[in-house]
Amino acid sequence: MQLIDGKLKAAEILEQVKAGVEGQVKADGARPGLTVVLVGEDPASQVYVRNKEKRAEEAGFNGQLIRLPSTTSESDLLAVIDKLNTDKSVHGILVQLPLPEQINEQAVIGAIAPEKDVDGFHEVNGGRLLNGDSRAMVPCTPLGCLHLIETVIPDLKGMHAVIIGRSNIVGKPLSMLLLQKSCTVTITHSKTRDLPNVCAGADILIAAVGVPELVKADWVKPGAVVIDVGINRVARDGKQVLVGDVDFDAVRDIASAITPVPGGVGPMTIACLLSNTLAASR
Ligand code: NAD
Repeated sequence: MQLIDGKLKAAEILEQVKAGVEGQVKADGARPGLTVVLVGEDPASQVYVRNKEKRAEEAGFNGQLIRLPSTTSESDLLAVIDKLNTDKSVHGILVQLPLPEQINEQAVIGAIAPEKDVDGFHEVNGGRLLNGDSRAMVPCTPLGCLHLIETVIPDLKGMHAVIIGRSNIVGKPLSMLLLQKSCTVTITHSKTRDLPNVCAGADILIAAVGVPELVKADWVKPGAVVIDVGINRVARDGKQVLVGDVDFDAVRDIASAITPVPGGVGPMTIACLLSNTLAASR
């Protein structure tokens, strides 16, 4: 079994991004900028935002964090986005989700200029991805999954990929990326019948569910590649630990390659966010 090292692949991408940013600085005389907007004090969001800022600055971007109080109205947030859309020094805009309940997330995402939407959640980018249009900003986690799969299977043509989870941020966009690579794609979800059996037909099995260690040994075809997107906090021996959606210890000896949690898909998400930001600045 090969462990697919997301930290290593992410570091490679970040090195390329860093070189690309310096190239842009030389060409334009200005540093590409990423602005993160955080509304409220959600503790998990604070950690995510700090990590994104730190990595963005390490890669040479001009990082800017706009913090707004949890009482911010939708129209005030839209006014901030409007300003960022027209600011030439800002190439990427990321609004950290979730937003407080008085704000409609879809309205906010839809207000970001599609070419600055480095999360790839704008409906224009969703449509471009669906159409196979190369201008699409592709959501970062599915893009990271694809890069990891390609480290072990360079030619995906004809492979049967089974995705567990149909969310707009992971399952659906990943299905489009894999179709573009000529995989045969099956998307499964909470209402899928006989899920273990469907999964057992996969050459590539991707779990993006949010249920700790859902995928068991008999769900995996011997030699399959397994990508675990899940990040679940569970209590083990009185301690909080992170586990994925795959029962790693049971599956590791059946799969030909598998991503660990942590250290698999997680680091790829920020790396792809920054490669999207570099692309936006170009
Ligand atoms: P979501 O809750 O939006 O979607 C979950 C999907 O799983 C749904 O489509 C649902 O139908 C399906 N599902 C739920 N229970 C199921 C079951 N028992 N059997 C089959 N399908 C089932 O979640 P999401 O935002 O797509 O995230 C999924 C997981 O990935 C979460 O653990 C999340 O924390 C993690 N995640 C990780 C990263 C990363 O950077 N590594 C990024 C995004 C999400």
